[in-house]
Amino acid sequence: MSWERILQNDRPDEPLRPRIDALFTEQRENWPMLRDGEASLGQLQRKTLTSDHENIVVQVNPARRRSTLAKTDASSIAARRCFLCPDNMPIEERGVAFEGLVVMPNPFPVLPMHCTIAALEHCPQQIAGRVECLLRLAEQIGPDMAAFYNGPRCGASAPDHFHFQAALAKEIPTLRQQPETPASRSIVAASRFGRHMFVARDGELSAAASAVERAIDAMREIQGSADEPMLNLLAHHNGGLYTVILFPRRAHRPACYFATGAEQLLISPAVLEMCGILVATEAEHFERIDAKIARDIYQEVSISDADFERIASKIA
Ligand SMILES: [Zn+2]
Repeated sequence: MSWERILQNDRPDEPLRPRIDALFTEQRENWPMLRDGEASLGQLQRKTLTSDHENIVVQVNPARRRSTLAKTDASSIAARRCFLCPDNMPIEERGVAFEGLVVMPNPFPVLPMHCTIAALEHCPQQIAGRVECLLRLAEQIGPDMAAFYNGPRCGASAPDHFHFQAALAKEIPTLRQQPETPASRSIVAASRFGRHMFVARDGELSAAASAVERAIDAMREIQGSADEPMLNLLAHHNGGLYTVILFPRRAHRPACYFATGAEQLLISPAVLEMCGILVATEAEHFERIDAKIARDIYQEVSISDADFERIASKIA
């Protein structure tokens, strides 16, 4: 199998957004796994938690076990077949092209219109040189959809194959509750519900991208290593403005993920979790999560207060 088969129905000369709608229509008809995944998304139990006047949503979504429990250490990754290489994709799977990437419906969605957007080449997950591409993607699929990125050490379940994701924007809590950005500054620091974030907003793509890159550079300086700092990114384009939310991280998973028995909560925060959609794979864990527990999880995986302050003063 090849990308040629995956892209066989695509009309690359037409705008991206309507091609994604056509793709979903075709895939719902011909791919039972996607149909079932979307149907179960509609039935999920959800609850809203509030802290600092900000809401997050917890959902119980057993179909996400594969992603939540994914082993992303180097030897586990080397031992498995890459599910973002076309040879290993289901026979029904189709996609549409965007700048060396392929947009495909995710049959295990967290949100409606959840897409995986994989590179044509099997190459490592890293954001360097791709921030502007993420913003162009957000512009072409917006304003009703948003684009996002998980770093290889904090949420990407395929750290060996570059990919973005996308989904319907209106169900992303943090996008609805953004802090104001003064017109004089393209990036601001904000802390809410236990999470630290930098919010970049600008009408110019290059200005928004360079504000984000400046923050990533400052994170790299503080960690004192050339590796990509642990981070998640969300990008949205609406009303002529690019908004990018950067979540600096210090841990991939909280201690409760590794606990056993009554202490265990299988929560593995990736970008959508950081944006206010906590995914529990087990109903009993869902029952136990309250605002305090959610806040503690966010605090544990977000960068420390001291490092956040240092980055904020570097980019001010
Ligand atoms: Zn691959």
